[in-house]
Amino acid sequence: MTRPEEKNMDELVALCKRRGFVYPASEIYGGIRGFWDYGPLGTALKNNIRDWWWHCMVECPPIGPDGEVVSIVGLDSAIIQNPKTWIHSGHVGGFNDPLVDCKACNARFRADHLKLFKVNFPENQSLGEIYVTAMADHLDEKAWSSFEKKIRKVFEANRSYVAEGSPSNQLSENDRLKLRCPNCDTEGKFTEPKTFNLMLDTYPGPIRDEDNKAYLRPETAQGIFLNFKNVLDTMRVKVPFGIAQIGKSFRNEVTPRNFIFRSREFEQMEMEFFCPPDESQQWYEFWRNERYKWWLTLGIAEENLILRDHGSDELAHYSSACVDVEYKYPFTAPGYGELEGVAHRGAYDLTAHSKGDNNKDSNTKLDYFDQELQVKMQNEGVDKETIREKSRYVPHVIEPASGLTRAVLVLLCEAFTPTPEREGSKYILKFKPKFAPIKAGIFPLVNKDGMPEIATKLYMDLRRKYAVEYDAKQSIGKRYARMDEVGTPFCFTIDGDTLTTGTVTVRDRDTLAQERIALDKIDAFLAAKLSQ
Ligand code: ATP
Repeated sequence: MTRPEEKNMDELVALCKRRGFVYPASEIYGGIRGFWDYGPLGTALKNNIRDWWWHCMVECPPIGPDGEVVSIVGLDSAIIQNPKTWIHSGHVGGFNDPLVDCKACNARFRADHLKLFKVNFPENQSLGEIYVTAMADHLDEKAWSSFEKKIRKVFEANRSYVAEGSPSNQLSENDRLKLRCPNCDTEGKFTEPKTFNLMLDTYPGPIRDEDNKAYLRPETAQGIFLNFKNVLDTMRVKVPFGIAQIGKSFRNEVTPRNFIFRSREFEQMEMEFFCPPDESQQWYEFWRNERYKWWLTLGIAEENLILRDHGSDELAHYSSACVDVEYKYPFTAPGYGELEGVAHRGAYDLTAHSKGDNNKDSNTKLDYFDQELQVKMQNEGVDKETIREKSRYVPHVIEPASGLTRAVLVLLCEAFTPTPEREGSKYILKFKPKFAPIKAGIFPLVNKDGMPEIATKLYMDLRRKYAVEYDAKQSIGKRYARMDEVGTPFCFTIDGDTLTTGTVTVRDRDTLAQERIALDKIDAFLAAKLSQ
């Protein structure tokens, strides 16, 4: 298996463009920073991940910690909500990131994304302490540039060192002056961090003034909280239950980067799980483990995926626990970067959106009356006061929040495999068959002798159930190479023997092995491979 460190992002980005996975948005006008278009195959890959998440979260959620059936329903809320939503959720006041400007080149960065690394070279103490600046999720080679001459030999010999780093907005003034600009490499020219709101705004209706300002949602979660009562009143759910949603989110990221990892428009897959406060820790542990296991079902190698618990200094004031599922991206390797966050959000969100004294608050109380608990306590002879107090509560929330577009990047990175030894294709994409945009290629070996007719019939039969592609152009070698590059796991070739034996060859993308299989066994063959 190719290690993440050996995968070149520039080559992957070029392959994605060349093979119709991801294009820069508005490319013919010079592009627009932080926005991407998903091509035919990228869309198929994204939809495959999306559908699998939906299946595993809404249609067939995991069995609960005590063997119970877990209930999760779906939602598709509006991208634009009443702007009060974002005041109460804390995004207007708090979705602020500290920004610093480099006074030398005017480049702007999120201060918490810039890290000051103190580099220690255990085998060469004489070098003393060396400070290097790098983006937090990108230990950029460029960051080393000005030091390279001085430390080249030692650096190369010590590539396995682990540098100590800390977010720059928590650094002392003295340390901040050691930061070098990742753009122009000037040292100590950063301004004080100042805040900047990450929400993109818009003005629905004809009047463009502050009173008519609305926001493009920066997360899908708030639409779920706003509909808590609707779902409770209209669906047969009772706490504990979840509401899941997949959709676009927008963040005015200061420095979008690393391909589709950090963009300004992206898609999220989020689920809010509402549970009784005294069960919340158990549900948090449950989702923490289940979400990690889910990512493995996408075919991600275990060594490339970690769970990282947040330290108490990273937690929001209302959160008692949070863990990130992190992936070893080629640009973070040997370190990891976020893919999903699973947070214990307590009663924060439902309380924040509940009816209050201020006429700017919502007019709905978002709490839950637990009738079963009431009856149970009555049967147990519990006093009335305790029953009243305990049977009505604001549920606590466990939130697994992941990026769908980031998941696309993870599967692309994971699948990307340089194949210098292969003829035809320089790279292959080793997707797990279930997620491959095209499940099988169907080829007549040559365009005559009845082969196209059999191949067309096979294609017409299979396409009713599977995403398959018929291709009769170019040499068979070129057709295989193209399928390898887009990650198609199987190719069925109709050849001269098909006419007499009723069999075709099936070629495996990864092993290149070819075996013969009867035409009427192909459906069952694909069904078995895709169910894994
Ligand atoms: P980060 O620390 O990377 O900015 P976050 O902690 O702010 O992420 P959350 O608010 O927890 O992210 O969002 C949940 C998920 O949404 C993230 O784990 C990530 O997969 C995805 N996500 C967040 N911001 C972006 C973005 N700008 N581009 C693509 N995906 C994103």
